[in-house]
Amino acid sequence: MERVYNFAPGPSMLPLPVLEEVQRDLLCYGNTGMSVMEMSHRSKMYLDIFQETVADLKDVMGIPEGYKVLFLQGGATAMFAAVAMNLMRGGKADYVDSGNFAHNALVEAKKYGEVVVAGSSREDNYTHIPAYTLSPDASYVHITTNNTIYGTRWSKLPETGSVPLVADMSSNILSEVYDVSKFGLIYAGAQKNVAPAGVVIVVVREDLLGNAMPITPKVMNFKEMADKDSMLNTPNCFGIYIAGRVFKWIKAQGGVAELEKINIEKASLLYDFIDNSRLFKGTAVREDRSRMNVTFVTGDPDMDAKFCKEATAKGLVNVKGHRIVGGMRASIYNAMPIEGVRALVSFMKEFEQANA
Ligand SMILES: *Cc1c(COP(=O)(O)O)cnc(C)c1O
Repeated sequence: MERVYNFAPGPSMLPLPVLEEVQRDLLCYGNTGMSVMEMSHRSKMYLDIFQETVADLKDVMGIPEGYKVLFLQGGATAMFAAVAMNLMRGGKADYVDSGNFAHNALVEAKKYGEVVVAGSSREDNYTHIPAYTLSPDASYVHITTNNTIYGTRWSKLPETGSVPLVADMSSNILSEVYDVSKFGLIYAGAQKNVAPAGVVIVVVREDLLGNAMPITPKVMNFKEMADKDSMLNTPNCFGIYIAGRVFKWIKAQGGVAELEKINIEKASLLYDFIDNSRLFKGTAVREDRSRMNVTFVTGDPDMDAKFCKEATAKGLVNVKGHRIVGGMRASIYNAMPIEGVRALVSFMKEFEQANA
């Protein structure tokens, strides 16, 4: 069986060289005589892997001094609660409601403090990033840099002054260059652009640590986790190791800046075709289009279903849109090679000729 081009939104494709490396090392990592899955998280051999992974993330992401890197569990969804418990400090927080996950984040945060919806595009089916008004006295401002389900992206970050900017970067971390110093906290579930599911990355400015609500579970307390180097309890050792391989792969590609160029090219191939198509239509507002999740429809649900079925038969799998929006979504994260995008565009052309 040949590998397919997997356009799944997450868990999603991993770079083939990483999978091959993991396979090679699976039974015996280096000269340790065991697999990474079997190592104690307190062992020197695993701590070496862990520390190198942290250092490589700092390197590829350009994380400045004064920030802690954590590898936690519970996914981005656990961080919806953790962010509020750690940063709300009895005050209120601004949330920009730009998509389904952004909405879930603010609903969860409401359990732990006052949430102000600073702007929302919910009424417009989240087809664009909303206009927003920020509160000068907020504890933080929360945004979702890329909206995975609707295929939108913040092209310009909000100016929050001295109020910390918190970002859920689950679906576009390491796909484009960000100035980390503009953020108080960044979090991202790994299963889209980084690693298998089960790891969530947190990058947090040190001065924001130490104000968690007393009810905060230990494993969600950023200060306690930072003090213990993410090892207050057993971390997802194997997932973190794979993340480390992916960071090395990113370096070998020339870093995030190089990947960003390729990602722009990949997205443009799809959007250019869609914009000139007689059959397909993009669903997100042009200025806010995502480079990671390209959403489109034919306008006829039966035709959409036919397209997905025939695409699958060609080895272009998981192009079906999210169940709450329908249509199609091609997720083209870092690991999707440009050849996969070319193959999809060429199939779309063929399908259009046969059906429109
Ligand atoms: C996938 C996703 C989530 C949910 O992540 P889990 O790890 O399943 O909790 C949250 N936010 C964004 C932007 C996502 O893409």
